[in-house]
Order: sequence, then C-alpha cells, then structure tokens
Amino acid sequence: MSAERRTLEQALAAWWESHADSVIGLRRWLHAHPERSGAEYETTGRIVDELTGIGFAPVVLRSRPGTGVIATWDSGNPGPTVAVRADIDALGAFDLLDTPYRSRTTGLAHACGHDAHTSIVVALAGFLAVYGKTLQPKGRIRLLFEPAEETVPGGAVEMIAEGALDGVDAILGLHCDPKSDVGSVGLRSGPISAAADQMTVELIGPGGHTARPEETVDLVSVAARLILGLPERLHSAQSGLAAVFGAVLGGDAPNVIPTRVELRGSVRTADADGWESAKTTVQDALANIMESTGADWELDYTRGVPPVMNDPHVVEVVRTVLSEVKDPKLSVFEAPQSAGADTFAWYSRMVPACYMRLGTHDPSWPHHRDLHHGHFDIDERALQTGLVAVASAAFSLLDTLRTKT
Ligand SMILES: [Zn+2]
Ligand SMILES: [Zn+2]
Repeated sequence: MSAERRTLEQALAAWWESHADSVIGLRRWLHAHPERSGAEYETTGRIVDELTGIGFAPVVLRSRPGTGVIATWDSGNPGPTVAVRADIDALGAFDLLDTPYRSRTTGLAHACGHDAHTSIVVALAGFLAVYGKTLQPKGRIRLLFEPAEETVPGGAVEMIAEGALDGVDAILGLHCDPKSDVGSVGLRSGPISAAADQMTVELIGPGGHTARPEETVDLVSVAARLILGLPERLHSAQSGLAAVFGAVLGGDAPNVIPTRVELRGSVRTADADGWESAKTTVQDALANIMESTGADWELDYTRGVPPVMNDPHVVEVVRTVLSEVKDPKLSVFEAPQSAGADTFAWYSRMVPACYMRLGTHDPSWPHHRDLHHGHFDIDERALQTGLVAVASAAFSLLDTLRTKT
C-alpha cells in the first residue's frame, strides 16, 4: 500500500468521524421526503443547498426545470475527469417502515435506496471540499444527481444532453444490494444489469355469451394461452428474452365473454444484441400464437434501457484499490448479472464505466429487505462503505488515467 493511499484512507476516516451524523441525517431526511420521478423539486433544492454551502457551483437541469444537478470539483491540476452518479427519485410504493424517518407522503417511498446513493455522493462532495486538495490529485470529479431513474428512458438522457459527460474519461455508479451484507462491494466486468422493455398487448374479439363460446372468440382463454405461451415460446426459441406479465385487465361479468383484454408486461434480456432485436422477436412470437385464435391483437412496445456495461479496465482499477482498503475493510465480491435495469446504462454506453453493488443488508436481520418493497431499508453503515468505495475508486482512476495518457 502506497503512502498516497494511506493518506486518502486516513483522510476518509477522519472526515467520516466528524460528518457521519450529517450524512445519516441527510439520508433520513431524504427517506422521509420521497418525491416521484421527474418531480424531485425539494430533493434537488436540498442537494443544491448542501453543495452551495461547501463552495460548489451546482447547475440544475434546464430541460427538467427544478430537478437534477450537475456539479464539478476541480483539483486545480490538469488531468482526467471522473464522474460519479447518484439517482435521486423515489417510487410509487407504501413505506411500511416503523422508524422515525419513514415516508411522510402516503404512497411514495424511497424503496430503491436512491436516498442512500444521493447521500453518498453529497458526502463525497463534502469530503472533497475538506480534504480534496490536500491529497493533491490531478483532474476533476463531476457529481451527477439524476432525476427520474425509475422511468424509461430515464433522466440520464437529459443529463447527458446537458453536458454531464462532456470531457469525462470514466464514470462510477453504485446501487444498494439488499442481498449482500454491509461492508461488501460487488464488481463485474461486462454486463451487470439487464435490458428491460415494456409491452402492452391488446386482445380484441366479438364478445358474447359464456353459454356459447364456440360461436365467438373466447378472449379470456386466448389471454390465458398468451400468458403461458409467450414466455415459453421466447424461452424455447433461445432468444435470451424473458417476458413476464404484471397486469391482466379484462371482463367484468361472470357470464359475458369480453370484447377486450389488456395484458401488460416486461421483457428483459441479458445481452445488448438481444435487446436490439427484442421487439421483432416478441412481435413474431405473438403473431405465431395468435394466428389460430381468431382474435385481433395490437402490440404497444416501449423500448426501455440496455444492460449496464462495465469496462474491464476501469473495473480492474476499482477492484485493485478496493481490495487494498483496510479501514473499513471492504469485502469485494464477484457480482452476478442482475435481471434488474438501471438508466446508468446510457452513461456506460458512452464512457468507460464501473457500476458497483453496495451491500446494505444488516446480518442481524432475519430477512433480506428487497428493493421496490415497502419494508426496504439499509444498514446505515453502508453509507460509509459507499463513500469509501466511490472516493477510493475515483482517486485511483484520476491517478491511473493520468499515467495512462
Ligand atoms: Zn428501482
Ligand atoms: Zn434503483
């Protein structure tokens, strides 16, 4: 371990000791004040206040007024630029926590941990403001606070359009991982999340009496065939696509065959090529199943996001530095590719990226507290792990990318 590394580690430990309460306080405030994707006004205001108060000049997105923040820290020495992204939106979900920081807005909850991501990147800003220059790095660190991550194509598109990646040599991101214990960080080269699209299939028939289904098109039976048949067909065609329906809407009376049934679902794929042809593959499979049913159908297909692609070189730099951290000791593990999606994918298509999984599970909890669930919560020690991970990774990249060029 170099003297330089020891200095960074000591500085992080010293900063955390005097600022842990304010970082935890910020996370709890954000948790109690969740805002819907694209309407993160109070959240953005709080981020701007935090950053302005420590000497940053944050810029709020123009195309999504009042939401999303870009801020750059400059070491004063020429060198590369490393970006670090946090997402800031909450979800339409009921917060079922019994804690002082539970959501104060019924039907909205920070159930995806974006409150933690935001607090970690604000903490990074705080650390840079106090210790950044004493460590004498080269280059810049750009902090990105992205709105509307839970939508497609997501706020990343506007962030990029407004210069988030201009001059950026590498980008870092992390996401809470409730299946991994606090203190662990998951890394993986190549795809680390999946592509996710959305589809609505509308089935249309003449309707009729349930006494005489043979005289009409039994649309509920057709829907059943489709619900079972589409995932099976995609699987057996080895398309790499997984289709799962999440909503079935149709019919009302027990003795009336409906004229319309609507099926809504998601289509996921692990690889980028499969994502390019996903719509055509689904359309062909649907046409095949529907051919003999006599029902009309329409497919409304919304392209979502591609898989997040981690750059092997950036991942290796991050893996090396995180394996050397002693205080707090991080356990680095090989992360599996998840079936979830993240709009971080858009950045990872444009600049070399490393997206990390941050263990948030408290080992004393009897169950994992899964994402997008009202009981989701984190072991707040993960905030320190997250800060140490992004700061160590960013400083190491500034160093490595500089010596590379
Ligand atoms: Zn989410
Ligand atoms: Zn998320």
